[in-house]
Amino acid sequence: MNKAVVIGGGPAGLTAARTLQEKSSDWTPEVFEAHSLVGGISRTESHNGYRFDIGGHRFFTKVDEVTEFWRRTLKDEFVTRERMSRIYYNGKFYSYPLKIFNALTNLGPFEAAAIMCSYAKVRISPLKEEETFDQWVTNRFGKRLFDTFFKTYTEKVWGIPCSEIRADWAAQRIKNLSVSKAVWNALTGANDTVSLIEEFEYPRLGPGQMWEKCTQDIEEDGGQVVMNTRVEKVHRTDQHVDAVTVRGPDGEERRVEGDQFINSMDLRTLLRVMDPPPPPAVMEAADKLKYRDFLIVTLVLDHADPFPDNWIYVHSPEVQVGRIQNFRAWSPDMVPDEGTSSLGMEYFCHEGDGLWEMSDEDLIKQAGEELEKIGLAPASSVIDGAIIRQPKAYPVYDADYTPNLEIVRAWLEGFDNFQTVGRNGMHRYNNQDHSMLTAMLAADNILGGSHDLWNVNVERSYHEEFVKADKKDGEPPRKDDDDIDGDKVAELAAYSAVIPAKNAEATIARCVSAALAADPAPAEVIVVDDASTDRTAEIARKHGATVISHEEKTSVGPARARNTGAAHATTDNYVFIDADVVIEPSAPKHLLREIGDDPQVAAAFGSYGSEQACPNLVARYANLRHHYFHQTGKREANSFWTGLGVIRAQAFSRLNGFSNDILKPAMEDVEIGHRLAESGYRIRLVPKAQGKHLKNWTLKQLWRDDIHSRAIPWSTLIVHGRAPAKTLNTRIEEKAKAVAVGFALLCLAVAFFVPAAWFGVAIGAITYAVMNEHFFKLLYRKGGLRTAIAGVGLHAAYHFYSSACFSLVAAAKMLRLPPLAAKSHAWVLKPQPQRRLR
Ligand SMILES: Cc1cc2nc3c(=O)[nH]c(=O)nc-3n(C[C@H](O)[C@H](O)[C@H](O)COP(=O)(O)OP(=O)(O)OC[C@H]3O[C@@H](n4cnc5c(N)ncnc54)[C@H](O)[C@@H]3O)c2cc1C
Repeated sequence: MNKAVVIGGGPAGLTAARTLQEKSSDWTPEVFEAHSLVGGISRTESHNGYRFDIGGHRFFTKVDEVTEFWRRTLKDEFVTRERMSRIYYNGKFYSYPLKIFNALTNLGPFEAAAIMCSYAKVRISPLKEEETFDQWVTNRFGKRLFDTFFKTYTEKVWGIPCSEIRADWAAQRIKNLSVSKAVWNALTGANDTVSLIEEFEYPRLGPGQMWEKCTQDIEEDGGQVVMNTRVEKVHRTDQHVDAVTVRGPDGEERRVEGDQFINSMDLRTLLRVMDPPPPPAVMEAADKLKYRDFLIVTLVLDHADPFPDNWIYVHSPEVQVGRIQNFRAWSPDMVPDEGTSSLGMEYFCHEGDGLWEMSDEDLIKQAGEELEKIGLAPASSVIDGAIIRQPKAYPVYDADYTPNLEIVRAWLEGFDNFQTVGRNGMHRYNNQDHSMLTAMLAADNILGGSHDLWNVNVERSYHEEFVKADKKDGEPPRKDDDDIDGDKVAELAAYSAVIPAKNAEATIARCVSAALAADPAPAEVIVVDDASTDRTAEIARKHGATVISHEEKTSVGPARARNTGAAHATTDNYVFIDADVVIEPSAPKHLLREIGDDPQVAAAFGSYGSEQACPNLVARYANLRHHYFHQTGKREANSFWTGLGVIRAQAFSRLNGFSNDILKPAMEDVEIGHRLAESGYRIRLVPKAQGKHLKNWTLKQLWRDDIHSRAIPWSTLIVHGRAPAKTLNTRIEEKAKAVAVGFALLCLAVAFFVPAAWFGVAIGAITYAVMNEHFFKLLYRKGGLRTAIAGVGLHAAYHFYSSACFSLVAAAKMLRLPPLAAKSHAWVLKPQPQRRLR
């Protein structure tokens, strides 16, 4: 039996130990925890029956492995909470996330106008340097909004001027928030960034409950979690750790040997306890890493529910408190007496400074007075209190941390049996989920994996979907997104690639070759020749595909061709690929992984990549438009896409496949997606499953396809209830964009008679530009200036004709006129048989 020694019983240490145990019976973990409670910063403390955590801990993640871990461990011991939080500033409470009318009322019209002017100024002439927090935020929000909402709070948290904080912190925490997005969110109620998570889970008895249960699981399976025992030395021979020395509660030291070591203590201390010490340059770099400490004053009040929020941010500089938690709003079980309440007054400080050194009585007194000053409760209502001091709560991202961390990291990476994980263990501003993910990957590395733990960061979870609309859009997936080790690939189900093809001699060779080169490889590549008059079948066969033809001698369309291919397939998963798509080798792996073992997830589909296969502007625009929609769409989808998508054979046959009535390429993918969803199946959008589109659109083709093959039949499906009203291209933002274009055009028509209408044109155009900011930037980044300029016009036209088609189709239905699609798309009106799953 091999032994893994784990330093620290916080989320990272315990996750590493438990994951190792769950994945292999050859390893026994032994965890050493210096504190008397497990959970580290995510522990739950208690005082006279009142439970509280070190800052409220939301359980929110988009990392599936972490969600599964939480569920496995605590099962249904979670409460789901709707977030309610406000900002207190200058004597007023601002809803947060921002509510536009509340903000305007509080700020008043003059201040609101001043904020908008300051924002406009920085958009026109942004700061050239963006190294520090204040520069980063000012460039995105304007100086005035920075001063109002960001400066005081941030300086309270970090205890240093914003000009000394690296922009990285802002980029990690408030990335993807922008004024346009905030206004948009405020108007629509949309919610898509980490700062604006509206609903989260929380263990009934606080976050410590998770880590107490995890400890119990580890011990029941033969591991050990040794409490009140600090690791005081890490003994090494060169870059190999031989043992650690621990000091137990009785003060006795002992040496503990192990085969592998995982650390979660802070890096500065870690390097100080290395024996022999690291080289002086490494030691010096580690010594420069800084931390911010934290203390929480828990107040018990003599009355219940002084305010409804989960927490309130206190930006006002007149009081020292930074944030106030209301623990009953997190979980009623945190407060034992219904007639009282328990608040956590959070103070950011430095170990040894005035606040840190203040006596417990004085801290409780000050917290009570500040509560009264803010107007939340009288100081006299405080009947009890307790203080918890938490050293090293935050790793500081100051101006020098990056090069210093690089030096430490480079030295630690040389070890062959030692890994460092978690928040302070990597000097990363990680929440539990990322701390845990690094630990999971470290455990996997011990079992033969080769993950780079330093690649795990905040983007992997919260921004997994939305980030694609921002800087990272179109870039290849990061390694941590992409790596599934060999074993897991082998576990993925077998699949058949099905490619309908009609006169595709120009592209079929590349399409088939790419499908055959996928990892894992398909059991078969079936090309269904839809009555081609060129060499499609011959070329496909020559490149290794099994080529079949319909019984019909004339073309019957891709929907029927796919049904024919599926009927010949020998596996339980059909990966449909269009004949002009060259898939990336990892695409099937991502799709199959997404449908996994859950039979309810019946389908998954990917996206075109952002790489340009064709030189012409129209093709570039069309390709990037598709890419953008698929990169920014919701992962839980309600339509399907046949360019690159998998459907389980069982669900496919249950629905009788694609509609046999659809004889031309049209909306067969949306249509089958709707039937899948209506039947109770789930469909997943997998942005990282990508393929290159080889189609070289002309403007005529694009508009004909957009209007005739998509807008009209799609609108008809929607108005007849056979497609969801909100899906990738028809989500509410797209509708709002269409309204902006319509408004601008209407004003343009009027402007020739009424000159004042030019203002309307300008407002419509600016609104449209702001709403499409991310997409236009993507066009520019990926296609250059010409594509961006052409793309703006093409996109406005797209919104115009799509909404015009929808209005016509809807009007025809309202006026009971014959449907627009009646002739060309008769199938739209013919319902398909379907059976519900449950
Ligand atoms: C105010 C605040 C609010 C937060 N809110 C959230 C939230 O809402 N959601 C969320 O997911 N995350 C939140 N976090 C982050 C979360 O607390 C951390 O990501 C998580 O606790 C990090 O886990 P870890 O195991 O890496 O480190 P830690 O939690 O720091 O655990 C490290 C453990 O190692 C032990 N240790 C250290 N040195 C030694 C040694 N020499 N020997 C033995 N043991 C040692 C410590 O006692 C500790 O138990 C918040 C953090 C703070 C400060």
